[in-house]
This record gives sequence, structure tokens and C-alpha cells, in this order.
Amino acid sequence: MAGIFEGMRWRGYPIGVTSAFGTSELLLGEFGGGEPGLLITAGLHGDEGPWGGWAIRKLLERIETADVRGFIRVAPMANPLAMQVDKRNAPVDQLDMNRVFPGNPAGSYSERVAHVLATEALKGIDYVIDLHGGGSWCVNDFVFEMEGGRELSISFPASFVVKREADSDSLSGYAQSLGLSVAAVELGGRSQFEETGAEKIAEGLLRALCKVGVVDESKAPPPIDPPLPVSGTSVLRPDSGGIFVPVLDASHIGTLAPKDTLLGRLLHPATFAPLEEFRAPFDQTALLLLRPFVAQLEAGAMTYVVSQPVND
Ligand SMILES: [Zn+2]
Repeated sequence: MAGIFEGMRWRGYPIGVTSAFGTSELLLGEFGGGEPGLLITAGLHGDEGPWGGWAIRKLLERIETADVRGFIRVAPMANPLAMQVDKRNAPVDQLDMNRVFPGNPAGSYSERVAHVLATEALKGIDYVIDLHGGGSWCVNDFVFEMEGGRELSISFPASFVVKREADSDSLSGYAQSLGLSVAAVELGGRSQFEETGAEKIAEGLLRALCKVGVVDESKAPPPIDPPLPVSGTSVLRPDSGGIFVPVLDASHIGTLAPKDTLLGRLLHPATFAPLEEFRAPFDQTALLLLRPFVAQLEAGAMTYVVSQPVND
């Protein structure tokens, strides 16, 4: 049961970096040829890369050739150079690739990659699912819902959903400007549960593909309850640098913590004297992103993303 994975048509787009780095290659994989078309991207931010790509691989193994009705395109390594060094941005220009769309064929590295995604990857596409989050230093459990994209977003078995207007210079925002439906997914990441996280993403992708008619709807995973709507997202950051030691581990991602729950601590890097504490700021603090492992942080580093349930 290799699914359509073995039948994927892979096409490489060489992208020059610098004379020292040589050339990197952006790979797009395709299957099918009908309508509608759905594009899945992962790793626009390089440190979020392998987990989304791994989920795409699981998805492709799960879909049989006979069940494909439309067109699937994937970009599992959307920012090759950034992923190579496990950083959010490519080291040669340090640009956030999700803020340079539609890119520029004569620009710097990130702008040129974005240009290939904006032109080649979006060609013939009606729906875009952009896999983020769940990176090498954090775990996440939420989806962004953007205007016109609710059906895609609630396909994912995430704990929380955040309504958001797409930034116009992001992949999602640019795709929206072309009339496409989009979703951004922040799920999974490095922890003892990374395999489960990738399974959840693959399940959500398959449900979305069936919902929009790219894959026969008889193959859809069982229906799920939509994620809990949350709003007022805020980021907890340390005032100074130090050693971060988590109190809540990865099993708490996607849960609601009572106000003042101790989430983690910041310690002095030499004496290990306590410097700061991270505590749940709301009566019902939705944990959207946390760091499950000990880490050295710089002042201002993203440490937790929290939110609150929406009151109807
Ligand atoms: Zn990202």
C-alpha cells in the first residue's frame, strides 16, 4: 500500500543562492490532472519543515490512485535553504519568506523561492493548505481560519481555531487575492508525540481533500467536532536571556490551563538562579504553542502562545 506516493511526478526548480552556496532546488510533486486543484506547502519557515513534510508523505501513502478525482500538488520543503540549517529564515537574506509574496524573480533568495511558489506552485490551484508550526523547538495545536477557508481549517483535528485576516504578503494572503480558499495549520512538532502530530495533520489533509472533491468523498476520515474558537492571542516572552525549563510538557498542548498555572521557568545560565516565571494569564488559558524541552532563550524569544475561548 504505497498509495499515490510512488506515482508522484516531481519537478525541481533550481534557485541560485550565492557563489559560495551554489544552487538549491525547490521540489514540487504532483498527482492527478482534473479539477479542483489543491496545493499543500510545508516548511515555508525552515525550522517547521520536517514535521509538515512527514505528514504529507503519510497522506500520499494513504490515497489510492483510483480515488483521486482532482489534482494534488505538494511542496514539502518550501524553503530549502532555511530547512537545511533548521532556521526560520534562509541565512543568506534572513527574510521571512511568508512576508515576501508574490516574490521577485530578480530579488534575493527568499524572494525568488516565493516567486516560484506564487507562479508555478499556484498554477491550476483552487485551494491552499499551508502547514506551519510544530517545529524543532515547539509544539502547537491550532489552525488559522481565514475568510472563505473555514471548511479547510475545521477539517483538522486541532484543539483550537483562531480567526485571522491573512497578511497580504503571505502565501495565504496572496492566494486569497487570486480568489483561492486557504488555511494555515499549526499542529504537531518535536516531542515524544511527533508521530501522532503528523498523523493528525495527515488525517486533516485527507478530510479536506475529500471535502473539496480532490479525493473521492467515500474515503473521508470519520467526521470530527470543530476546534474550539479562541481569540485574543498573545505571546509570552522573557525579558532577559536565560535557560528555559518547562513545567508543563508536550502533553499539555491544546489544553486549557487555569489562571496562574506555572507553565515554565527562566533560570540564570550560570547559577541557575530563578529569573522569571511563565504563568497562565487568563482564567481559561488556551495553550496554542509551548516549548516542551529545556532551551537557551534570548530576551524576547517566543516562548508560549496563549489565547482565550471566544464568549458567544
Ligand atoms: Zn511558520
